[in-house]
Order: sequence, then C-alpha cells, then structure tokens
Amino acid sequence: MLKKVIITSGPTLEPIDPLRFISNRSSGKTGFHLAMEAKRRDIDRVIFITGPTCFLPVAVDLIQVETAREMHEAVNAHFQGTEVLIMAAAVSDYRSALLSSEKIKKNSEKLTLDLVKNPDILQELGMRKEPGQILVGFAAETNAAIANARKKLTGKNLDLLVLNEISPQNPAFGSDDNEVCILQAGGIRKIERTGKAEIAVLIWDEIFKLRAKDRE
Ligand code: C5P
Repeated sequence: MLKKVIITSGPTLEPIDPLRFISNRSSGKTGFHLAMEAKRRDIDRVIFITGPTCFLPVAVDLIQVETAREMHEAVNAHFQGTEVLIMAAAVSDYRSALLSSEKIKKNSEKLTLDLVKNPDILQELGMRKEPGQILVGFAAETNAAIANARKKLTGKNLDLLVLNEISPQNPAFGSDDNEVCILQAGGIRKIERTGKAEIAVLIWDEIFKLRAKDRE
C-alpha cells in the first residue's frame, strides 16, 4: 500500500511586471486525473502541488504555487519519504531575469526580454532518488520525440516517462483526450487516443507494476 505520493500539475507562471507573465498552455487536467485516480487506489497521502489551474482534486493536501521556484521549494520540502513523485506540471524552463516593480510601458518599437533558466526540479530529484522511490516525468516534444524522450528518461534518472507527441492532430495541452507513449528502461507502451482520466489509470497501472517488480 502506498503511503505518500507527490503529484505536480498545471503550468507555472513567471512574472515580468505586476501585470504580465510568461506561462504555457497546460490545463492541469492530466495532473488532476492522476490525483483522483491515486485517491481511488486508497493512497494515504496525496500531496498535490499545482500552478494556476481550475482543475483541483478533492481530498488531497493541496499546495498552490505560481512560479517554478515556488514549486521547486514545495516539492523539495515534501520529497523525503515520498514513494512516488509524478511531475505532470509543465514547469516553465525560463523566467524573466528582471522583475519590474512597475508596469513596463510601450515607449519603444522593440523590447528585449532577458530570460534565465529555472531550476530543473525533476533532474535534481533524479540525482537524489533513493532505492524504492519512483520518479515519473512527462515530456512534450514536437520532433524526434522518442529519441528525446529516451534521453530524458535516462538523463533525469526516471523510472517512467510519459511522452506527449505534440502535433496539430494531437495538441495534448488543454484538450480532454490525448495519445501518449509510456517509456521505461525495458520498453515503450503506446496508448491510443483516449480520455485523460483513462490515461491516468494506465499510468498508475504502470507505476504499480514497477513497484511489484521492485519488491520481487
Ligand atoms: O526537460 P523537460 O522540461 O522536457 O522535462 C519535462 C519534465 O521535467 C516534466 O516532468 C516536468 O515536470 C519536469 N521539469 C522540472 N523542472 C523544470 C522543467 C521540467 O521538474 N524546470
């Protein structure tokens, strides 16, 4: 029986000035369904760390954040003793180097925004992972999807990686259904187009299979 899992969800939002921000199209639906499915499987404690989204599951420990750095802090604070971490959040890779305290005015024809890299939460935790802990990552790729996903699986020291191959036929972000591949060291499982709730069930099935294998 699983006692403690962390699921991250939604986009992160990186402020530029008091009114503007950088973000992405993540709706938070997949993270929401992963949390609901975790509750259905009687997992004791589901810590749900989410960026801004209206898809908020019930009966979880809810932690709402905005920025990647806030998500980083929240995940780190709860990682110890976590048996499964699913990073379904679409963490912004970059944030604005400067945070203007005043609204940036449109005084010039061109405006350049300097961006700096955010911490890679999953990469860091992949390095800290202890035996028995399972790390699940997501990838959204538009080209050389499987090769890039494989690199991510090994580079971040993950146990499972859920690949969204983004194309006009499969927008993935925002939509109610999706088609994904679930990669692990031993192989790859293609999930044909289906609802995100069903995809969450199949992801948890794979996690439970991995745990059973770990215990053999
Ligand atoms: O490298 P890439 O951003 O494609 O990896 C995606 C995976 O890494 C997702 O599971 C995402 O939640 C996680 N990630 C992270 N911290 C970042 C960027 C991505 O944990 N700064």
